[in-house]
Amino acid sequence: MSASPSPILIRDVTAIPMAPSGQILDHVDILIHPPRITALAPTGTLTIAEDTYILDGRDKLALPGLVNAHSHAGITLLKTGSEALPLEPWLAWLIPKQLEMEPDDCYWGAMLACLEQTRAGITTFADMIALQEPCAPAIEQAGLRAVISMSVMERDPWDGDPAEGQARLERSIEFAQRWQGRGGGRITTRLAAHAVYTVRPGLLRAYAEAAARLQMGVQIHCSETRVEVDGCLARHGRTPPALLGDCGLLELPILLHHAVHLTDDDITLLDRPNVGLSHNPGSNLKLQSGRARLPELVGRQLAVGLGTDSAVSNDTLDLLKELYLAAVLHDWPPGSGPSWRVLEMATIGGARALGLADRIGSLEAGKRADLILVELSEPRHLPGSDPVRQLAYTARSSDVATTIVDGEILMEDRVIRRLDAVEIARECRVRARRLLGG
Ligand SMILES: [Zn+2]
Repeated sequence: MSASPSPILIRDVTAIPMAPSGQILDHVDILIHPPRITALAPTGTLTIAEDTYILDGRDKLALPGLVNAHSHAGITLLKTGSEALPLEPWLAWLIPKQLEMEPDDCYWGAMLACLEQTRAGITTFADMIALQEPCAPAIEQAGLRAVISMSVMERDPWDGDPAEGQARLERSIEFAQRWQGRGGGRITTRLAAHAVYTVRPGLLRAYAEAAARLQMGVQIHCSETRVEVDGCLARHGRTPPALLGDCGLLELPILLHHAVHLTDDDITLLDRPNVGLSHNPGSNLKLQSGRARLPELVGRQLAVGLGTDSAVSNDTLDLLKELYLAAVLHDWPPGSGPSWRVLEMATIGGARALGLADRIGSLEAGKRADLILVELSEPRHLPGSDPVRQLAYTARSSDVATTIVDGEILMEDRVIRRLDAVEIARECRVRARRLLGG
């Protein structure tokens, strides 16, 4: 459970720093004094202390740790519980299922999500769920970086008691204040509302006011399906992004999840540096939500990250799978370099979308030492002359060898150091059987 106190040197690695963009550096050494990266230099040129822990970087790529811009770790135990359901009937199945979950089910699901993400090279994730209270300790214990929220959803936003939503808002504010900066600063909190179809505008306004007062960011699902957009137009006479703007939310650091069905006016409205979007191609495909306008969204002031969404709608937390989907699902114009674009989304773009780009997202001296080593040695990668295209088109989570967060090695050569994988698997199997049968 202890952090690595000794310096770490990754020796003779091929580095893809992501800042500046488009650079691949062969034969470099990366020096880490936890929790920070302190130097990147040609191999053999750095002076190191005697107690430096050496990681052999030969035949490996060093990348910034991957950023999963959207997840719901607490419901991981419901993985593979459904198929062939669009979002709306899927939610009708999921919400009562969630009510059957005990706090410990969420805790162990979050543990499993952290274990899977550690093995997949995901060092930071954004997470929102109503049941966040039991998940947060698991996230803290796992050693990953995370932006977490206790998400609010009203039982009946149109005819129900507004006091119920207000009470949930108060609880989520108390949670966000209590968890801000925990885990040695690895955990940051945001306020979250589920979506415009489950939270009334008055409560969204209260959210915006609370977040502004507390100087916190927010996150919310937005324009995920055609049904959501049509419902918002019918009820409120505007699209979901326009409604969020009316409620004051677009003035804040805001992370919008999915953003599949955006109009031209929505894109113009959202194109500002405080707006982040998470693109979740695997989940959008499984829930039959449609295809986002991704090539039109990258390269703007707004930041675009890549997300898995929950294990219930994906069903893996493998961001390299999402890299592949984002690279092949869209009509990228010739010369637009989708492999670089999607790698940016999975690293520095995600960091920007989560408001963490001053700390993570690139390999630079002074930034937090959140990085991964990837080995492209399997036959499916070969011969392969372009490592970024290999990452986008041939890589899988199992190619990640080593995962480091804040200078702590959480996995080295596929061996997990912090978490007890056997105990997590045992707990999760028993609990999932109770929830899903089988
Ligand atoms: Zn979601």
